[in-house]
Amino acid sequence: MFSTLLVLLATVASAPDRSIQLGETYAQAIAEVNAKHARKPGTTLESELAERLPKKATLAFEKLIEIKADGGLVEALEACARAALDLDRVDDFNTARNRLLELDASRAEALGVALSRERILLLGEGGLSVSYLEHFALITEDVLAAYDEVFGFKEFSKVAGKKLRVRLHLEEAIKSPPHFAPQFPFHSEIDFPVIDAQTLNSPTPKGQFMFYGLCHELGHVIAMWGSQSNQEDHHAWAHYTGLVVLEHIATSKRKPKWLSHCRDFQWRSVEKELSRLGDAKPGTGDRDAVLALLFGLHDALGPQAIGEAVNIMDEADKRLRINHVRYYSFRELETTLLASTKAKKLKKRVSALFP
Ligand SMILES: [Zn+2]
Repeated sequence: MFSTLLVLLATVASAPDRSIQLGETYAQAIAEVNAKHARKPGTTLESELAERLPKKATLAFEKLIEIKADGGLVEALEACARAALDLDRVDDFNTARNRLLELDASRAEALGVALSRERILLLGEGGLSVSYLEHFALITEDVLAAYDEVFGFKEFSKVAGKKLRVRLHLEEAIKSPPHFAPQFPFHSEIDFPVIDAQTLNSPTPKGQFMFYGLCHELGHVIAMWGSQSNQEDHHAWAHYTGLVVLEHIATSKRKPKWLSHCRDFQWRSVEKELSRLGDAKPGTGDRDAVLALLFGLHDALGPQAIGEAVNIMDEADKRLRINHVRYYSFRELETTLLASTKAKKLKKRVSALFP
């Protein structure tokens, strides 16, 4: 009787630890795979990386899912679901979430839903459905394809090979616009509020340009300028790339279906921006000067040359990085562009745009 009680007490005492331990084994292994990759990304893609999770981690996860009940189970499942998304393991995310649904539906729903595509991983919170993410994925993939066609940037994520994350959340109203969230250790993420759970309508009834916002934020993901304390581009770069890409999609022959809900081009275009800029002098002194500089380069060399310059600077990988985020300088851009421009006249034209 006495020994049975001891065994029982021991089981009760160790039970919560068991699920927490299994969850930690899984989450730690994911962090280790990501950290190792970030040190030397090479050409490994995240889909390949996701397959490199050690057996002990996948076994720990399987065991956790089989646990009937214990004190730490809910927290452990939540931790695993979040960790799974850090390594594009959406199947694990769904398995953990489904198990959590049986235990605590509201906490499972608070985790949101996820969708993985070749280049992006979308997370939907606040009651968004997977089909909404599928709709949003089409838009994001078209925007990425437009960036490819127009600029040809080789790498979108601050850690090469990792998929871009977009965290969508359904809100009553859009209080802060979409923004690039640079704080995550191993991937680039865009925070994207939405107010309609069916379709992305842009602009919103309040005149917020959500489609432009997505095009704009991807510009930030590609390149930051100066440093954290000195934004050398005065927030002009993402406006420039965003407008150019928006226009490319809106004026292409292939009109994606979703474009009928995203009508930003009526109000936002390169032409309108150029006429607003008037004869602003190119330079780096303020936002309009940087815009005049960027549109000047666009006009003289074309966007492919700008994209190629960024790719060259990335290959050298000598510029500033803060938490892996790439910071460029206009001095370096000028040098890189001049090095790859042959014609003398054109060289002069490019030089004249920089201060
Ligand atoms: Zn911005």
